[in-house]
Amino acid sequence: MILIFLGPPGSGKGTQASKLHETAGIPQLSTGDMLRAAISQSTAVGLQAKSFIDRGQLVPDEVVVKLIEERIELEDCSSGFILDGFPRTVSQADSLEGLLSAKNKKISKVVVFEIDDELLVNRLSGRRTCESCGAMYHIRERKSAVESVCDRCGGKLVQRTDDNEATIKKRLQIYHSQTSPLIEYYSKLGIVNKIEASRSVSSVFSDLNNILKSLET
Ligand code: AMP
Repeated sequence: MILIFLGPPGSGKGTQASKLHETAGIPQLSTGDMLRAAISQSTAVGLQAKSFIDRGQLVPDEVVVKLIEERIELEDCSSGFILDGFPRTVSQADSLEGLLSAKNKKISKVVVFEIDDELLVNRLSGRRTCESCGAMYHIRERKSAVESVCDRCGGKLVQRTDDNEATIKKRLQIYHSQTSPLIEYYSKLGIVNKIEASRSVSSVFSDLNNILKSLET
């Protein structure tokens, strides 16, 4: 099963992908997480990506396509994966088609997380992320048991450098201009399902599972 999670930053794609990974064992491929890992390890990709991420801009297509190309070759992706945050441009989507068709594989479903921009600014500016495992929290709506400490792994909770109001607005603008055209792109293939993403994590997860059940029948 190959799934694409599409939606603006803060719409809950990462949270839902991580829950699906935990419950169904499907690998979660987040280009954002891969790029942040590359930055913290100071690799060549990380050094190249950092200034784009900090400014809220997209990292060049060829950089992220290469990351995905290498990742889907790994054994754990042989029976499927969730793409969380990729593709983000039509050119990335075209490259993905090429990578998959070379392996005789197809996208099973594109899940679009729909939510108003106003909610996202609040969600993202209050978001805290575990610097060790990537788990996400919110300073009001999803607190950790102990302040600044991850419930899952005990890591330190930090605010992402791009989760500040000015950068969030830039990221939303880029989502609308460069990424949202992908909804039309995949709708033409008849593989899009939309989810109202402003609701609770558990309600969204329940909708997601219903969509996935329809794939099994
Ligand atoms: P995310 O964690 O998905 O919100 O991504 C954080 C940042 O990483 C984005 O604002 C971009 O700068 C970069 N990024 C992540 N995925 C991609 C992608 N598919 N294409 C280009 N840039 C990306």
